[in-house]
Amino acid sequence: MITFTNISGACEIGSNCYILDMHGSRIVLDSGMHPKKEGNEAKPDFSLIGAADPDTLFITHAHLDHIGTLPVFQDEYPGAEVIMTHGTAEVGAAMLHNSVNVMTAKRLQDGIFEYPFFTHGELERAAHSWITRPYGEPFRTGRSGSVLATLHDAGHILGSCCVELEAEDGTTILYTGDLQFEPQSIIPGAEVPEKGIDILIMECTHGCTERPADYTREGELLRFAKAIREVLENNGAVLIPVFALGKSQGLLLELGRFKEQGLIPDVPIYFGGLSSKITQIYDKLSDNTPRLHPGYRLQDHVETHGLPKQGKAPLVASPGNIYLVSSGMMSEHTVSYNLAKQVLPRAKDAILFVGYSDPDSPAGRIKATPHGQVVHLKPNGGQAYPVNCRIENFDFSGHASRDALIDYACKLAPHTVVLVHGDPEAEESLRATLVEKLPNSKILVPQPGQVCQL
Ligand SMILES: [Zn+2]
Ligand SMILES: [Zn+2]
Repeated sequence: MITFTNISGACEIGSNCYILDMHGSRIVLDSGMHPKKEGNEAKPDFSLIGAADPDTLFITHAHLDHIGTLPVFQDEYPGAEVIMTHGTAEVGAAMLHNSVNVMTAKRLQDGIFEYPFFTHGELERAAHSWITRPYGEPFRTGRSGSVLATLHDAGHILGSCCVELEAEDGTTILYTGDLQFEPQSIIPGAEVPEKGIDILIMECTHGCTERPADYTREGELLRFAKAIREVLENNGAVLIPVFALGKSQGLLLELGRFKEQGLIPDVPIYFGGLSSKITQIYDKLSDNTPRLHPGYRLQDHVETHGLPKQGKAPLVASPGNIYLVSSGMMSEHTVSYNLAKQVLPRAKDAILFVGYSDPDSPAGRIKATPHGQVVHLKPNGGQAYPVNCRIENFDFSGHASRDALIDYACKLAPHTVVLVHGDPEAEESLRATLVEKLPNSKILVPQPGQVCQL
């Protein structure tokens, strides 16, 4: 029997963590930390794992909603094999060390005494037992090696993988993790199985996002370059809030390309902190991880200005500069949050959004505020800022579009599709469409804690 249990605490993009029981093998998929919740609320509900210890944990990629509680899991279940790609191990260590610093700061500033969940030393010890596997090479794991596993390139960020599992009875399962079929600036699109999958566990971030019919990535890049040029020529500052891992590196490459092609003026680009650390890892692995431009190193091609060190005077948004800074959601205490407070009231400046923002985040609140009205960056009021600056949205998502997800599920036509990693509306919208398109398949949206027989 094969069962699936969602232990991430909700149906949303949160602390991703799922249990697969496969004929006596216990496999856990991802061990994330919720981006919006704090303290123990941000962890998956590990108590639902119960008495039988897991045999294997797969980490699909190094975004914190998939890897953020890995050392907590390892402390609880030291006997489980922890498997990921080499790229994820490299980037994941950097992300988790940064997370220790963020958690420690929150303990001091906000009095969250569960933080940090682990120390730098505990993380280093935990990382010694991570097992790395290349794409496309099957290996055995699970109880007595009864599960045959293969990692496939998920095309989402450096090191991201989909996990294919074959049970003893020959049933095949594919867990997509976060998935993008289209090439992004640095990372080629996903290389995933096109047939032979019985059970598909699929992300649905864009499950209810319709794209304009005439969308092309190249067209979107040109529109992005034009907006940047107009703001700079009008002596404004350009704020681009980005995720430190993935989006930062891709857009840094594009800004360098825009300058080379004369699409934007040669102005300073401010970029730093965690984004720079991750960029160094992207560059280090530029020869031996899948790339659109093998061997291309960002640091050799795009000049950047660093950010002030912690404890120094904060960055001031000045006319004629580009600020490509994290966090993407503009969370409080981040560089993008502090710059937004300066930029919002100024008509000549601009905030250019480049991907998904949670509606409850400061970025989501700014996006939802009409021009000329005021926005509260914090959920429960506080200081209000007039939205006088130019605000625009661009789609450079690292996630597959709704249509691409539907096409992929239809191509595989598995007997069961399990939908995860989406807002409730996204999961419901995709479920309703797949029920129609795949009448012979079971389409599931597992509720937290519910044990689903697959
Ligand atoms: Zn991700
Ligand atoms: Zn994710």
